[in-house]
Amino acid sequence: MTPAHPALGAEHETFRSQIRRFVREEIEPHLDDWEAAGEIPRAMYPRAAEVGLLGLGFPEQYDGVEAPDTFYRMIAVEELARSGSGGIVAAFGSLGIALPPIVALGSEALKAEVLPPVLRGERIAALAITEPGGGSDVANLRTVAERDGEDFLVSGQKTFITSGLRADLLTVAVRTGGPGMGGISLLAVDADTPGLARTGLDKMGWLCSDTATLYFDRCRVPASRLIGAENQGFLGIMRNFNMERLALATQAYGHALRCYEDSLAYARERQTFGKPLVRHQVIRHKLVEMASRIQALGATLYGLIWQVDQGGVPVAQLCMLKTLATDTLEWVAGEAVQIHGGAGYMRGCAVERIFRETKVLSIGGGASEVMRELAAKQLGY
Ligand SMILES: Cc1cc2nc3c(=O)[nH]c(=O)nc-3n(C[C@H](O)[C@H](O)[C@H](O)COP(=O)(O)OP(=O)(O)OC[C@H]3O[C@@H](n4cnc5c(N)ncnc54)[C@H](O)[C@@H]3O)c2cc1C
Repeated sequence: MTPAHPALGAEHETFRSQIRRFVREEIEPHLDDWEAAGEIPRAMYPRAAEVGLLGLGFPEQYDGVEAPDTFYRMIAVEELARSGSGGIVAAFGSLGIALPPIVALGSEALKAEVLPPVLRGERIAALAITEPGGGSDVANLRTVAERDGEDFLVSGQKTFITSGLRADLLTVAVRTGGPGMGGISLLAVDADTPGLARTGLDKMGWLCSDTATLYFDRCRVPASRLIGAENQGFLGIMRNFNMERLALATQAYGHALRCYEDSLAYARERQTFGKPLVRHQVIRHKLVEMASRIQALGATLYGLIWQVDQGGVPVAQLCMLKTLATDTLEWVAGEAVQIHGGAGYMRGCAVERIFRETKVLSIGGGASEVMRELAAKQLGY
């Protein structure tokens, strides 16, 4: 059900096939074990780099893999999501939100030092913005970084941080100035900095991706680790959110596709009352409704990927896309479990995992309520 966008060509399909093969052969067979272990093996990161997945869209000079357009990155997200595991997308994807501010705003020395090991899969990177006191209201974050000579002393807490427990490099949002958005900066912090402690969090889904609370107690971070200008970090955070929201919408789309495909296959095979489920009108109408909503989402999504690729920053549309995608997924995943009956409630079934992982997409990277409010502001209501 790939949307037929005029910007898509044979190269995109070849790329999609390569990523799909990697996912089918090297990820899907191990998912249950990785979920049970609570993490994917570190060795998978260099492997993902080798197949061109990890560094996709990052500059080659830092060991990234240049992508000819934004579709490639989103196709990669979509195919990873079709594995039926959001944890895998989150674990590999944490660098995709941690590194862009460094690429866009960091000094040349900082980029040369921190980007290559992460893009080669040797180090793990995470983005730390959310705090125990709140995640939606980013402009009021409280973790402080006080200037002390050539260093900053960072104190405060971050929570719900993807890859936070295993990350070697943390892009951390801190308060260096006065209240509000004008007092926020971004710092690249090594996770072995004295004064930094972390604890893991148990959660509903994304089980193969670690999530952590970080405690900073006067962590000494060199001022050379400032990402961009002091007190200008909020802009970097907001820019990051646009691509994150596009990726989260793409992830929801990939999961929804997997739900639909598995449900259709199950409905063809499962017999009730003497015939396959799909021969019952109620079930095939559910499948058609799933396909309709996914098709509508796909067309909107691919249209916006193209718009972003042309240099547009359609903030309201991205917010609306995210809620459209996550609402679609919540409905589709519910119907998918229903079509699977008891089997859909059992661990080891892809739709069971996806169902558990729908909510995080409606909350993370800007919760639906906040997305609608931001869209309303952007639309001038
Ligand atoms: C698994 C997981 C991974 C995550 N990974 C990361 C990460 O890597 N890095 C990171 O920095 N953060 C991460 N987060 C945090 C995530 O971005 C936040 O949870 C999210 O931004 C919401 O913040 P909050 O949880 O503090 O909710 P709150 O901000 O406390 O909001 C609670 C509820 O109230 C609603 N609400 C808030 N304000 C308003 C309003 N003005 N009007 C109406 N409703 C409102 C929200 O929509 C939400 O439904 C992750 C979260 C999860 C669950």
